[in-house]
Amino acid sequence: MSRIKRLSSRLANQIAAGEVVERPASVVKELLENSLDAGARKVEIDIEAAGSKLIRVRDDGVGVSEEDLPLALDRHATSKIDSLDDLEQVTSLGFRGEALASISSVAHLTLTSNTDSESSSGFAASSSGREMQVKLRPAPHPRGTTVEVRDLFFNTPARRKFLKTERTEFGHLEDVVKRLALSRPDVAFSLRHNGRQIHDLRPAQAEQERLRRLASLCGPAFVENTVEVDRSAAELSLRGWVAQPTFSRSQADLQHFFVNGRYIKDKLIAHAVRQAFSDVLYHGRHPAFVLFLEIDPSAVDVNVHPTKHEVRFRDGRAVHSFIYSTLHRTVADLRPDSQNLTPAPAPSAASAPAGRLDLITGEVIQQGNLGLAQQRLEQQGSSAGESPGWSIAQAEAISVGGANMAGAAAQLSSYRRLYGDRGAGNRASYEAAQISESDGTVPPLGFALAQLHGVYVLAENADGLILVDMHAAHERIVYERLKAARDEQGIPRQPLLVPQTVAVSQRECQLVDEHGAFFATLGLLVDVTGEESVVIREIPVSLKGANVEQLLRDVLSDLAEYGSSERILEHENEILSTMACHGSVRANRQLTVPEMNALLRSMEETERSGQCNHGRPTWSELTLTELDRLFLRGR
Ligand code: ADP
Ligand code: MG
Repeated sequence: MSRIKRLSSRLANQIAAGEVVERPASVVKELLENSLDAGARKVEIDIEAAGSKLIRVRDDGVGVSEEDLPLALDRHATSKIDSLDDLEQVTSLGFRGEALASISSVAHLTLTSNTDSESSSGFAASSSGREMQVKLRPAPHPRGTTVEVRDLFFNTPARRKFLKTERTEFGHLEDVVKRLALSRPDVAFSLRHNGRQIHDLRPAQAEQERLRRLASLCGPAFVENTVEVDRSAAELSLRGWVAQPTFSRSQADLQHFFVNGRYIKDKLIAHAVRQAFSDVLYHGRHPAFVLFLEIDPSAVDVNVHPTKHEVRFRDGRAVHSFIYSTLHRTVADLRPDSQNLTPAPAPSAASAPAGRLDLITGEVIQQGNLGLAQQRLEQQGSSAGESPGWSIAQAEAISVGGANMAGAAAQLSSYRRLYGDRGAGNRASYEAAQISESDGTVPPLGFALAQLHGVYVLAENADGLILVDMHAAHERIVYERLKAARDEQGIPRQPLLVPQTVAVSQRECQLVDEHGAFFATLGLLVDVTGEESVVIREIPVSLKGANVEQLLRDVLSDLAEYGSSERILEHENEILSTMACHGSVRANRQLTVPEMNALLRSMEETERSGQCNHGRPTWSELTLTELDRLFLRGR
């Protein structure tokens, strides 16, 4: 080994640049963060050749004074923190004071700035040489700052070689701009590439403008399929939007999570989100979301990574559980009435649910509104004549319910002779419509009209036509009921014939000890038998034959890392889901109108009923406007 020497400034900065400046997108991130920290209301980004030739960021922030300019380009020089206390509760995006120094060590950087809003007299600074001496010259500039970065990695060819195609690099760069534009809707952003305008975002204040920005950054389909999240608890709040599970993606490319306005990719957060969606997404599908977590700055350490893409929470478990429970609730609340359906005026008890669907047999159980239905029938029966004023649904409701209405039954059969069963179905909906005009409200999913090819239920609601995939819908309903039953009665346990001893670490032993009650709720009875061994005595009945040792290990590692584990529940849910799938109405089964209505009502009551167990949609709506458009009918 040779003697120890002090590194030149440039080399030291180049080493730092290895972490901070990975590609053009990282430069854009650092420059934009500086602009936002300087209170810019407007930033303009000009890019040439995906940033390898030119990156120029211009802002209207506070600017840098002539005296401070040389320091701005110096390493370990920042205006943002002053003491360890400041570091422990940073509110600015930057604070390490190394971005500009690092970038100027691997590119030609010029910073032009002016702090005076009265005059356009500014100064330009650039550095050169081994020791990176800063040169200043007067340069006209309105108040604010322009940073120009040319020929990135011109002096570090190895780095340059790692750059991907222009398209890929620009993709990364655009992502950075998008994220910052999402986090600061109040700031105007313009992005040009090779002279072409890519984004031009005006500042958004009102809700409507914010949604417009969201649509232009995440796509209109995202906005249309999204639900708002807004929850605050003691020291935390989570706001933003999550897409309905049916809008899931094949890649995790529409996932934006911000902690105190900073874009974060964090394992703990990713886990909480995944867990919240686990029950409504196909394997391999990814939820889409834009979420903002606000937390006391001193409860989160942002100084764990040079690019600050990761954070460390003081109380990770609390954060995990807050995010999980908030999103879990949001997803569970997605049922027909929470979506854009307008509740509308309509029916009396008679037309509404003809019964409850027995989920095991698929039969309709009559109850409740029989009296009213009967009354209606009696009122209308007298004027029935050639065109009976009652519906097959009502007649069946009554006959199934056991009321012996000889007259009604006779009329029913003559009606059937005249119009056939199809007519009867239409009649039922006509009836529902009549009722809806007179009183009450139409339920969100409306009233059944007919069944199509044994697969779809057609229903009429206040807005138009509802189409339901009856198998998918029923499957979800059965699944949710099975889960509810399980949650009420607990997970049934079964002793193992031969208790299974598992060798674990001391830390894991502690976890078993601490979380005994938690294990019990999962249907696991585990005892600590030594410093590094535990024994599994009882397991959930449903997991007979499963690899319980592996499961226990996985649960323990979840507990160690996130403070909670849903593995057993997930495992059980999978089993229940399979059971539900087998227990549901099969396609091609003819449903009666009351059965169809019962299905619609159950969907309205059931959590997550917008998706089947595999995340496919269970229903869809065609509004009158959409139908009119289909037939070129002007309204
Ligand atoms: P940091 O952002 O961590 O402080 P930087 O190297 O990114 O470190 O910037 C150094 C300093 O230069 C900042 O602290 C700030 O005072 C000043 N600066 C950089 N960019 C701007 C800008 N666009 N507007 C005003 N001041 C800036
Ligand atoms: Mg900075």
